[in-house]
Amino acid sequence: MTDLPIPSALTIHQILGLEPGPKLVVFGAVHGNETCGTVAIRRVVQELEQGALSVERGTLTLVPVVNPLAYQLKRRHGDRNLNRNMCVTNNSQDFEDRLSNVICPLLEAHDVLLDLHSFHTPGIPFALLGPQNNSDRLEPFSKAEEEEALALHLGVDRFVEGWLETYGQGVRDRQARGAEAHVDYGVGTTETIRRYGGIGITLECGQHDEDVAPQVAYRAIRAALAHLGMAAAERQPLPPSQPEVIRLYKVLDRLHPDDRLCRDWRSFEEIKQGDVLAVRHDGAELTADQNGWIVFPNPAAQVDQEWFYLAKRSNRLRLC
Ligand SMILES: [Zn+2]
Repeated sequence: MTDLPIPSALTIHQILGLEPGPKLVVFGAVHGNETCGTVAIRRVVQELEQGALSVERGTLTLVPVVNPLAYQLKRRHGDRNLNRNMCVTNNSQDFEDRLSNVICPLLEAHDVLLDLHSFHTPGIPFALLGPQNNSDRLEPFSKAEEEEALALHLGVDRFVEGWLETYGQGVRDRQARGAEAHVDYGVGTTETIRRYGGIGITLECGQHDEDVAPQVAYRAIRAALAHLGMAAAERQPLPPSQPEVIRLYKVLDRLHPDDRLCRDWRSFEEIKQGDVLAVRHDGAELTADQNGWIVFPNPAAQVDQEWFYLAKRSNRLRLC
């Protein structure tokens, strides 16, 4: 813990190109212990100040620390997870509610979000894609091609899709058991900018304290500027020749404190149909229904919360 006062403001850096163009906002430390984006953004700010990089078109807004309370506490949350239930409220209950009242209008004022995160266990960087174009009630969207094109030029080979849809299935399962749940709880930064008509990519840049994560984040910011045509001297990186697209399709909740994972699964560990993944407190085995991956396993999940996700291969980016 810290004796510092609770932060009272959000610091942003904004560069206005003299020619019209896209409005890009880059976020670091939405989760306070995920600082690769903060390091990368500060490097970009320094380069802009020194003249090593210049924005010519559009608006670039850089937010090195989106959750200053969580950052100060060196942990994921301040009072709660900022990247859930993001909305404007006139009935603020906690620090993240007050922060969301500033962040939502900031997202509304931009066309594109690049949200830089890191993860807990070893693994390769990946970009989280939004839904395909659809007019469903859950997450209607019409800019999937634009979002995919940006994701493909950020310098990573792995892409993950199906987040809110799968989260929604988990919420329905939870409600069917009589537990309290609402799909809006799955709404974070990217879902918010899409609701305002923009596009957004969450980039998971590597393991929390891995040296390479800030590099991945830095390259992605420069790549986004190039892709969006905002900095003339920037060269756009080539898209991966063989993108690996992984589709989340199912989330399982922990239902009892004695429910246990069969082993210490790593996120994105490959699984084969029939593999036993976890055992319920009554001895019932949870097995993989098809070949794929186990994703975001949380052995310490609370009862009625997400325990692990199942994912399968997707052909999405091969079709475009
Ligand atoms: Zn995160």
